[in-house]
Amino acid sequence: MSSVQLENVVKYYDSALLPGAAPALDHITLEIRDGETVSVVGPSGCGKSTLLKTIAGLERPDAGRIFYNQTEVTQIPTQERGIGMIFQDYALYPNREGQGNLSYYFEVRKKTEEEKQQRLKETAEMMGIGFDLLLSRQVDTLSGGERQRVGIARCIVRDPNVFLMDEPISNLDAKLRERTRVEMRRLLSKFGITTLYVTHDQQEAIFMGDRIIVMRAGRVEQFDSFDALYYTPANLFVASLIGTPPISVLPAERDGLTLRLHSGDSWTLPEALAHTLPPGRLRLAVRPEGWLVALQPGDGLALNVTHIERLYTERAAFAHGQLGGAAINALVPLDFPDTRQVFLQPDWERSYVFHADNESALHVPGVPDLF
Ligand code: ADP
Repeated sequence: MSSVQLENVVKYYDSALLPGAAPALDHITLEIRDGETVSVVGPSGCGKSTLLKTIAGLERPDAGRIFYNQTEVTQIPTQERGIGMIFQDYALYPNREGQGNLSYYFEVRKKTEEEKQQRLKETAEMMGIGFDLLLSRQVDTLSGGERQRVGIARCIVRDPNVFLMDEPISNLDAKLRERTRVEMRRLLSKFGITTLYVTHDQQEAIFMGDRIIVMRAGRVEQFDSFDALYYTPANLFVASLIGTPPISVLPAERDGLTLRLHSGDSWTLPEALAHTLPPGRLRLAVRPEGWLVALQPGDGLALNVTHIERLYTERAAFAHGQLGGAAINALVPLDFPDTRQVFLQPDWERSYVFHADNESALHVPGVPDLF
């Protein structure tokens, strides 16, 4: 097992050498701790796969250095780095039995039969109930989820320093995906293998990762726990990417204690908050649970409710509508009346404020103390 460090890593693809082209990885510096599972999220094309391939040695950085456990590996070929890789298409050898897939490694490495059997036995035991049965079957007769387990076992059998996974379960159906990710999480915690996990699915990233890397345009925007990304986002991009339903963003202007929306409506800011904010243009952002919702006007602004979505398993509902030019989803109790209009005001303690221009955070709620 191993920690992984990147120091100012830059990667250009040839096609990106056109004037003004941006690198696929733009000065990435980060450290993944020994035994930790880290998810990588960000919009398509932001450099997630390139990050993984560069750590694997499948792509060489144009600048910067990569270390496994403080030992530089930048120039070391992939096959000598001791990594396990799982991509969407599993990369199993389809005509071998599951067992053959596992033992292939020992055949090409000329390990003794005894060594091979011992390691296979250990891996099958670690993989848990039913795995033995999978091993005796031909790969092309296995289901997607079963192949995934064989794929993971094939990596584990090699005792990798680092596990790299790129959308490993995105082509499974929803139910199987759910089950497989629970299984994978269990195995990764059990083996404590340092893992980098790329996914476009936020829920999956949260579920799999001890920490999450948020990328945009080849850069790391923030690398933190889910709670920190949610409650202390570095900027509006991170705040908007993390959280479902998404945070509502309202362009506004501060004048003294008055926060005026584009519609001309305004709220009065608490003094303590107003003093921490610059005057002029700002962006106010409020999560669904960050609204104070009332049936009477009071200090609130009117939200015309388009519909109320009731989530019975969550014992909660969302009132959807538009306010100040933004789509709003306000969390309300499950038994909230079927009304066409409610009155909203941000719970200022729970609201977020960002710079209008560079979108960096000016005020965030901070991670609540839940226990
Ligand atoms: P992601 O995994 O986040 O979708 P990628 O790492 O695949 O993003 O791609 C990052 C950027 O590099 C994109 O602009 C993509 O078009 C470009 N890119 C990726 N692979 C290649 C390649 N082999 N040749 C040229 N450009 C590439």
